[in-house]
Amino acid sequence: MFNNLSEKLDSALHLLKGHGSITEVNVAETLKEVRRALLDADVNFKTAKEFTNTVKEKALGQNVLTTLQPGQLMVKIVKDELTELMGGDAEGIDLSGNPSVILMSGLQGSGKTTFSGKLANYLKNKKTKKPLLVACDVYRPAAIDQLHVVGDQIHVEVFSDKGNQDPVAIAKAGIAHAKANGHNVVIIDTAGRLAVDETMMNEISNIHKAIKPQETLFVVDAMTGQDAVNTAKAFNDILNFDGVILTKLDGDTRGGAALSIKSVVNKPIKFIGTGEKMEAIDVFYPSRMADRILGMGDVVSLVERAQEQYDEAEARKLQKKIAKNQFGFDDFLNQIQQIKKMGNMKDLMGMIPGVGKMMKNVDIDDDAFKGIEAIIHSMTPKERANPGIFDASRKKRIAKGSGTSVQQVNQLLKQFNQMSKMMKMMQGGGGKKMMQMMQN
Ligand code: GDP
Repeated sequence: MFNNLSEKLDSALHLLKGHGSITEVNVAETLKEVRRALLDADVNFKTAKEFTNTVKEKALGQNVLTTLQPGQLMVKIVKDELTELMGGDAEGIDLSGNPSVILMSGLQGSGKTTFSGKLANYLKNKKTKKPLLVACDVYRPAAIDQLHVVGDQIHVEVFSDKGNQDPVAIAKAGIAHAKANGHNVVIIDTAGRLAVDETMMNEISNIHKAIKPQETLFVVDAMTGQDAVNTAKAFNDILNFDGVILTKLDGDTRGGAALSIKSVVNKPIKFIGTGEKMEAIDVFYPSRMADRILGMGDVVSLVERAQEQYDEAEARKLQKKIAKNQFGFDDFLNQIQQIKKMGNMKDLMGMIPGVGKMMKNVDIDDDAFKGIEAIIHSMTPKERANPGIFDASRKKRIAKGSGTSVQQVNQLLKQFNQMSKMMKMMQGGGGKKMMQMMQN
């Protein structure tokens, strides 16, 4: 995420970090580089200029030149200003209604349908919410089908009325259906066009006026940079929406949209989309994003993602299995699925402070577990439950079945063995035992 920008800001600030004597000229040079980095990231020209002016004022106001660690103070000022630029505090969505109605707006392909599903899934996992998805795209039957596919995937009901050409009527019927069936959140997915046009604007504006949603969210593809900001402005003029959803931040996004939108439409970014999977949704925290942009990682979000996947009952079951020496390959496969649900591997690594920079040129196959999964899938159920029973001919057969080599199979068996031992030791309160093993 934002690799290029991070790198350029890092090298701009490097001018000051560890610099023996810092002068006003150095500061000016650094800020010139910072501005260039922002412009290269497709940040709005005016925004970039205001940003560097503010940083300069603050730097001079705090007497950066005479502090002990001027470089660090500059980084802090830049971090605070980046946070401010992206919206200051994180803002949640209003779920006070019963049902709370959330209207999605945005261009076709921006990721509205996908995000509607992600949000429904996210709210459903909060346990107190029972969402209903409503399909209001009356032009593309495929879009209605797509929402049904998403709904099935996350086990959330979808309300649609194929053939009905009146999106306002569908939206109203959807809300009535929610009331009658105990849904406390209604997420309305609407039609988008490839570009802003009057018909679309009228249509969404009519739906908006008719249903008076608690939240109107504008979904935009972060990859579109400056265009994202212009589209946001056009939608905001009509809808006066409550918040922005930035999608596709997992790609090679330059960052311009994330950094400019707030200052142009004065609406907060509320969520971000970081992948095609239903779990790839994050609350947008400006300060955490600023940390990531400056290469400081984002451990808090990493831990939160892990917690979201953590199921206490499952964990207890697993613990018992480990204690009884019953942890098998099926359990292992399950663990891999959990990790994969946390998101794109490179993205996850980037959340660890310092690692993002190290990994920038490393290609991590998002399917790094593919070989391991294939090997496990080629085992018989009995073998999966009894990791100690493989003979040479079975290993050969498994390698062939999984398109790997006997060496890879052996490696996995060895790693699995070590991991099982380690887990058993941790269970037995054996921190000490583990230390001993590591020393041997
Ligand atoms: P809509 O026309 O606005 O409803 O857009 P869709 O939800 O159909 O999304 C368009 C395409 O973008 C689909 O292929 C989605 O899988 C993809 N997409 C949506 N959100 C994300 C995201 O956060 N990351 C990535 N990589 N792809 C996304």
